[in-house]
Amino acid sequence: MRGGGGGMMDDGGVEHAQIPNSFGHELRACLRCRLVKTYDQFRENGCENCPFLDMDKDRDNVVSCTTANFTGPVLPLSEFIAQILACRIISLMDPNRSWAARWLRIGRFIPGCYTLAVSEELPEEYQGMCQDNNVQYFPPKRP
Ligand SMILES: [Zn+2]
Repeated sequence: MRGGGGGMMDDGGVEHAQIPNSFGHELRACLRCRLVKTYDQFRENGCENCPFLDMDKDRDNVVSCTTANFTGPVLPLSEFIAQILACRIISLMDPNRSWAARWLRIGRFIPGCYTLAVSEELPEEYQGMCQDNNVQYFPPKRP
């Protein structure tokens, strides 16, 4: 284990998101990309997929842009993509799932742990930050 290295490589690129180093109540999912890490990991290194949310600069951003309120399994990226593909089939009948289908087309996700079971929306001001950075945000299906 490299100490505190996070996902950053020496050449400046990110090859892998951090893997949650503990499991339980402090696990949180990014509301934009559904990456799952611990609160401390988001606070120290932000979200590898969404650096523009500045979670590493302000803990309020971590609280606003992530949620501990997800119930589904935490999946490695390959499983996550497979689940989205399964959703795409469902989306033919259920338009509420279409965010997942659209997501695949733009998806450039760093390998890591993800969950599909996020039902909260990113707060509006942060959705605006996505737009400012030309990053698409797909809200989850509504209850
Ligand atoms: Zn994210």
